[in-house]
Amino acid sequence: MLTNDQYAESAIFDALEGGIIVLDLHERIVNWNAWMTSASGQSFETVYGKTLSEIFPGLMFRRLASAIKLALESGASTGISNALNSSPLPLRTRSRRKLLHDIKVSPIGSSPITACLVFITDVTMATHREQYLRDQQKARYNAVVESAPDVIITIDGAGCIQMANPAAVSQFGYTLNELTGKDAAILFDERSDWPTTWRTAVESSTPVQSKELIAIHKDGSLSYVEASASRWNIGARALVTVILRNITERRAINLALRASEAAARNSAAALADLNQSLEQRVEQRTAQLMNAEEALRQSQKMEAIGQLTGGIAHDFNNLLQGITGSLHVTQKLIALGRIGETDRFLKAAIDSAYRAASLTHRLLAFSRQQPIDPRPLNVNELITSMEELLRRTIGETVQMNFTAADSLWLIRCDANQLENAILNLAINARDAMPDGGTLTIEMSNKILDSAEAALRELQPGEHVRLIVKDTGEGMPAEVRARVFEPFFTTKAIGKGTGLGLSMIYGFVKQSNGSVLIESEVGKGTSIEVCLPRYQGNLDVEATDETNPRESRAGLDEVVLVVEDEGVVRLLVVEVLKELGYYALEAQNGASAVQILESRQRIDLLITDLGLPDISGNEVARIGIANRKNLKVLFMTGYAEKAASNSFLQEGMEIITKPFPMDLLAERIRSMIETR
Ligand code: ADP
Ligand code: MG
Repeated sequence: MLTNDQYAESAIFDALEGGIIVLDLHERIVNWNAWMTSASGQSFETVYGKTLSEIFPGLMFRRLASAIKLALESGASTGISNALNSSPLPLRTRSRRKLLHDIKVSPIGSSPITACLVFITDVTMATHREQYLRDQQKARYNAVVESAPDVIITIDGAGCIQMANPAAVSQFGYTLNELTGKDAAILFDERSDWPTTWRTAVESSTPVQSKELIAIHKDGSLSYVEASASRWNIGARALVTVILRNITERRAINLALRASEAAARNSAAALADLNQSLEQRVEQRTAQLMNAEEALRQSQKMEAIGQLTGGIAHDFNNLLQGITGSLHVTQKLIALGRIGETDRFLKAAIDSAYRAASLTHRLLAFSRQQPIDPRPLNVNELITSMEELLRRTIGETVQMNFTAADSLWLIRCDANQLENAILNLAINARDAMPDGGTLTIEMSNKILDSAEAALRELQPGEHVRLIVKDTGEGMPAEVRARVFEPFFTTKAIGKGTGLGLSMIYGFVKQSNGSVLIESEVGKGTSIEVCLPRYQGNLDVEATDETNPRESRAGLDEVVLVVEDEGVVRLLVVEVLKELGYYALEAQNGASAVQILESRQRIDLLITDLGLPDISGNEVARIGIANRKNLKVLFMTGYAEKAASNSFLQEGMEIITKPFPMDLLAERIRSMIETR
């Protein structure tokens, strides 16, 4: 019979939700509670005095046996968990399912140990829940791996494939069976360094990203992949999971992008090329334009020459007159045996011939297209040599003055261009003074200080300054601002090309000089050209010299000869002397008028029509106004004026240069004798 205490103890014992087994020192069961009876299906009475291995034959778990031994022999407690679902005892739940349990073995008493307790805890529910969660996780994991577009393979430490997902099957064309157990190296082309990727992944504790790898399909086709590999361990066993991402498409896109970038770069280059060819075209066009400009320049020169023709013809006839006349006289003097007197006439003939040659030379030089040839030159000499040309150009209504420094420095530039520039400036001045005025050409040495140089965009220092000044209409600011533009002109069509000043500008800039314009409406214009001094010598060229002018007197009748050309005057006077007349000379209209207004006897007036100051016509008018019966013989080099004799009145005659001396003598004699 049980005592009360024992009864109470036994009641608690049986009420425990868990199994309790008490074993004596011989491992024999001395107690076993109701939970154990229910879980094992065996009553206490049947198990009493037996060992656990007798009750559960063959099933006694080794760890449980050694834990019991340990507790009884050395007094140590041992816990055995159900961790790996390996419950040691064949117990069942109330619903007859396998009962999963943890076990704790503890000794009872200490020195001496009298018995040991085996506690059994039901962990079925908890284990199942854990299992369920693990399954869930695994399913989720599988779902991801199975459906992943990327290849996922797990490789063991030997490099063999343990697991592969469906993407791996479709990527490589092998079945799952074929893949499993294969060396992963077969999946990669030799050119891609798979072994290195693999080794790095095995050795690294963090995920490794590979370089671009070339994957080989079972059929041999290639694709580009990128691998990320991470190592993990099961116990001591290392496994590497590799995710391969197919980058063939991305790569192709990148390549295409790069190609299109390159194409863009190429087309940028092409654009640059195009630009360059455009530049070339612009250059060509510019060259064409310059040719056109050159042509225009040429035609402008021709126009200027056209304007000159009349005057030049006149000059030429004068010079030819000087030559032929002198020779005729010489011939006569020789015939008369007055050889000693021939010298003067021969000299005059030669002189005229030289001047004619020089004029021809100048005209040719001016009209010819000559290459630009910069040479040292003296502006003063150049302008002196152009004097006649300039006078003819600006006409008789414009007064022309030159002022030049005593020892003008040399400059270096193309003489033809400078002449052309000066001529253009003179033509512009003339055009600005339709009612007459004064053209002044000034040449001086000028040392530019830094401010003056800056104004002209030149270097400070020694320069030669040429100023062409007129008293004409001047320019408003808006015209002045544009005069250097090619083709800018305010002149009527056919009158202006608009190239004069632009060419001057170009030429001056090319010669390292400057052009400055000062102009005021109604007051006139002054154009300054500054050219740097040339430090060097000049190859001296012969220059024209003026003719000696001498007067001669005849005997009876008095004849006034008005002629600006010395040689012609000399010849006429010579003829008069031969004929026995008394000759008076005037080299211009003004001095002729002076004589005509005096009381001097004058029977015949011989005058050039084109005099530099007053026209021959005007001289004749004044002469007739003073002397009713004055006879007038006009000389002219202008063929057309000679042709239209409409202006000739009674007692007037005209003779066209060049004329033979005999003809002149005859005309003079007949005019005086028919008085
Ligand atoms: P063009 O004489 O053929 O017209 P230019 O280039 O020589 O061409 O001159 C351009 C313009 O500058 C002239 O049309 C005129 O309006 C103005 N110009 C040039 N020189 C003078 C001047 N001395 N006085 C007034 N205007 C001038
Ligand atoms: Mg002009």
